[in-house]
Amino acid sequence: MDTSVNNISNILAKADLTKQDIVSLLKSNVEDRNELYRKSALIKEEFVGKYTYYRGLIEFSNICAKNCYYCGIRLDNKNTSRYELDEKTILSAVQFAYENNYGSVVLQGGEREDKVFVEKIDSLLKKIKKLSNGELGVTLSLGEQTKDVYNRWRESGAHRYLLRIESSNIDLYYKLHPNNKKHNFERRLEALQTLQTLEYQTGTGVMIGLPFQTYEDLANDLLFFRDFDIDMVGMGPYIEHAETPLFQHKEKLLPLTERFNLSLKMIAILRLLMKDINIAAATALQAIDPIGREKALKVGANIIMPNITPTINRKNYLLYENKPCIDEGADDCTNCLEARINIAGDTIGYGKKGDSKHYYKRISKKK
Ligand code: SAM
Ligand code: SF4
Repeated sequence: MDTSVNNISNILAKADLTKQDIVSLLKSNVEDRNELYRKSALIKEEFVGKYTYYRGLIEFSNICAKNCYYCGIRLDNKNTSRYELDEKTILSAVQFAYENNYGSVVLQGGEREDKVFVEKIDSLLKKIKKLSNGELGVTLSLGEQTKDVYNRWRESGAHRYLLRIESSNIDLYYKLHPNNKKHNFERRLEALQTLQTLEYQTGTGVMIGLPFQTYEDLANDLLFFRDFDIDMVGMGPYIEHAETPLFQHKEKLLPLTERFNLSLKMIAILRLLMKDINIAAATALQAIDPIGREKALKVGANIIMPNITPTINRKNYLLYENKPCIDEGADDCTNCLEARINIAGDTIGYGKKGDSKHYYKRISKKK
């Protein structure tokens, strides 16, 4: 008798997954994981529909004040040519997203807290709102800021914020970051809480397949998202970068294909745990498998972030090695993407913001 399938069916039939159940699912073999994917696909269809929503990704600047050990654009990497897009360039990318019915844009970049930066984002948000008659959804992913700044940006038009916790295990967090004023686990947690209080659709996430990371850590990350009542998650494989301190631990890493499979399992399990949230198919999946993001959509993700950064700047936003699409214009990416998403079985929610259903439930509970 095949006990593993029996075991997996029992786990998948449960209303609540325990940490041990999640670890078993993360370790599942090919047959069992396919069972998991069938279930997560059904849940996606039932709770958020077979839709994929676009977020046009603008990699606004690779100038960063921080020194995360894994990231290719960290402050101390002197082999990166630094750029910051000017307002005109950003707004023309936004215009592209608007005209092509993307529904939403994401402004992402290195972390800075200086006044010039804060003002620039504020002014941009107001212009994006005007340009799109308030129709475009705007997500920010610009790291930790004060409550005042988050509030100001919220009032100027941002309504979603993505701030990955990177790992919910504090010990692991400090293996990935220096332990100093600029890099502080508690501050990151507080920032997430502040975003929730300010009624942002609040997103977080982790990297998967990090050196020193265990299956238990990953299970705890998923339970952290659930217990934090998060609205959106963007998580994907860790991919090493030679010009970063974490690279010295590369012999501890799982092969890329295993990091990829683990990422798909994380997405599928998260869909079981949090049925109505938005889950992004992270760009890093595409760095490992050309149709990696579409595979993620099939097992539970419902958001994709086509890169609409001007091609000339993409080669400098290298967080990790083999970053995809750095030579393609926004148009090339969009055309092939639509066909691939349709093959994956989803309809694209053109012109729709595709807000997190979970967010509206969370907010209405509070009122
Ligand atoms: N600076 C902001 C922050 O850190 O929150 C936003 C931009 S940062 C580049 C966006 C995400 O890139 C980070 O949260 C991190 O998870 C991811 N990232 C950085 N280096 C990576 C790597 N080597 N492999 C995979 N993801 C990476
Ligand atoms: Fe800067 Fe974000 Fe990279 Fe950390 S992950 S170095 S904060 S861009």
